[in-house]
Amino acid sequence: MVFTISTEQFPYSNLAHWPPLTYRNNSVSPLELRGEFIDYLNAENTSKDSKELQPWIPFCEGKCAFCYFPVNCERQIYSTYLIALKKALRLYSETKYVKSSDFGELYVGGGSPSVLSEEQITDLLDFCNSTFNLTKDCQIKFTACTSSLTENKIRVLSSYNVNQLDVGIQTFNTRLRGFLALKDTAEEAKLKVKTIKRAGLGVSIDLLYNLPGQSLDEWEKDLNQALELDVESVDCYPLDLYANTPLARKIASGEIDKPGDYRMELQMYLKAYQLFKENGYFPTCHNRFSRLKKDFEKPASEVIGSGAGFFMGTVGPFQYCDIENISEYIKSAENNVFPLANLSKLSTDDEMKKSMMMLYVRVPVNREEFKLKFGVYPEYAFPDAVNNLINKGLIKQENGELKLTEKGDPWRFNIAWEFFKNLEENK
Ligand code: SF4
Repeated sequence: MVFTISTEQFPYSNLAHWPPLTYRNNSVSPLELRGEFIDYLNAENTSKDSKELQPWIPFCEGKCAFCYFPVNCERQIYSTYLIALKKALRLYSETKYVKSSDFGELYVGGGSPSVLSEEQITDLLDFCNSTFNLTKDCQIKFTACTSSLTENKIRVLSSYNVNQLDVGIQTFNTRLRGFLALKDTAEEAKLKVKTIKRAGLGVSIDLLYNLPGQSLDEWEKDLNQALELDVESVDCYPLDLYANTPLARKIASGEIDKPGDYRMELQMYLKAYQLFKENGYFPTCHNRFSRLKKDFEKPASEVIGSGAGFFMGTVGPFQYCDIENISEYIKSAENNVFPLANLSKLSTDDEMKKSMMMLYVRVPVNREEFKLKFGVYPEYAFPDAVNNLINKGLIKQENGELKLTEKGDPWRFNIAWEFFKNLEENK
């Protein structure tokens, strides 16, 4: 199927890249809520919802030119950091809430955790295994970059029954890899993916699109290369240009071309959508095309983790991020203090919005479940948003559920924001 959407039909004049309620727009109130958060953690967890454990490794070999994450490249600090990280994770593990929780997924994120030594990787995985209740079929995922992932590390991860490596490739194009300051060549990156596959591990790769001067043909070549490598899934991210990155500075100075506008970005997304669908990969999660059944199950409702710059914490109604500065993070953990930088608590209205917003990760909203939880059907809680989106063909009602349509898929982040506009007015 080929998408042909003319610009007159565009429902929005830009493509949002992020949903609401990320750490980018949370209110900061760590001190006021800290006591309430700790009280919550000290109570039993009665929900049986699946949980994700996320130890965070903020280290990389060097910084990529587009990267806006707070990453650190000082090798000598790894071991001190890992001691502090385990201390912070232990603070969570010793709470009643976490003791009464099971984790169906362990995701080692960052940064590039593959920069750690084999011993450090084994020690961290052993620690998580012995300290938290991981389910028997717990999915273990590990973030890696091709340049720091050695064959020995792949063997270690394979022997530990890691299910999937999330590998940052970004692009196979040599010129574009140069712009992004990636450490290895496209050939080396491809060989590494093949080595991972030979070791029997699943591979998900990250690709970036709408790069400076990138043509639709070049993007299509990257997509075909991913298919040729037979990876399990591909996360396709549009370039998000942050002003203080080396890439943004080079573009501002005219040294390299600007990325395309949102129309080009849309075309590239639709090309990926079409090509992946033709090859048995379907859209799921934030930006993923996958052929794995597991990727289409309901995502974990809570993420408990820690690490300098960790930003995905969700426990009951609380959302939290950790301190970004590594020395301050270590100091806090050494003093047995949860290393929080930002803590917020969702109100019932926020919870309603969040339930609707899950459309952006392609999770349908079950009308009856919504009513049971909030006392009202979604179309009464959000009449304007639901009606507008249905009228525009961006969402649909089917079998008692509200769900994203194929037409709405590229606009899913814009759609998520619709539910944060006018709840108060509709009451
Ligand atoms: S490897 Fe990933 S986290 Fe590290 S600098 Fe590059 S983009 Fe950022």
